[in-house]
Amino acid sequence: MTLTHMQIKELLDENLKHECEGIGPDKVCVRIAAIGELPTRFGDFHIFAFYNNRDDKEHAAIVRGDVTNAENVPVRVHSECLTGDAIGSLRCDCRDQLKAALKQIGQMEQGILLYMRQEGRGIGLVNKIRAYGLQDHGYDTVEANLALGFRDDEREYSVAAHMLYSLKVKSIQLMTNNPRKIENLTQHGIAVNGRIPVVIPPNPHNEFYLRTKAEKSGHMLDNLGKLHLQEQGDRPLLEGMNPEQFAQLSQE
Ligand SMILES: [Zn+2]
Ligand SMILES: [Zn+2]
Repeated sequence: MTLTHMQIKELLDENLKHECEGIGPDKVCVRIAAIGELPTRFGDFHIFAFYNNRDDKEHAAIVRGDVTNAENVPVRVHSECLTGDAIGSLRCDCRDQLKAALKQIGQMEQGILLYMRQEGRGIGLVNKIRAYGLQDHGYDTVEANLALGFRDDEREYSVAAHMLYSLKVKSIQLMTNNPRKIENLTQHGIAVNGRIPVVIPPNPHNEFYLRTKAEKSGHMLDNLGKLHLQEQGDRPLLEGMNPEQFAQLSQE
């Protein structure tokens, strides 16, 4: 089942008039502004583009099937990463995570990927690249981390929660390895009925996880030997990780 033209028209009409008190401390309110079909190499989707009342960021939802009034809809929250998602940077694994999630959802009846347009989880491109630059010049990782020290996770969850309300989803299963994400969405009134682990097949670019996880717990190095910045809210589970390594993922 996919969305009908009638449903799309109704959603757009309703959203034109939508007003609410807003969600979270920032009183975030979003509206679906446009909907279009999006065939991809991972399957057929609709893309929903959102307007929001707080900043100029145009968040998006990549939607598989008809999710209106649906229960237990698989949902992945992905934070934009220009360098990883679009350029294929090896300093992070955002592209692998995005691909794995879209591939998984593309094979399901229904599912949603929320694409949050907040580079580096809200720190912005400039700060992210600043941290890269500091690391390139041998600055200590503490300083690089300082440049990254003002993430706005709270906002991300408020916006994500409202986007799910706008999509009229009744309950979700969160695609995450991080139980804290479930808590955060639940606090904003989303019914999270379960968790689907995101599993990434190992390849030469992400096997560093396995290695660093095994060798030095706590610190993530990328495959350039530099501190791995955690840009997504949770780490992926790589095929081949043992239960102990998986347990560590959820604690970070
Ligand atoms: Zn609203
Ligand atoms: Zn990234």
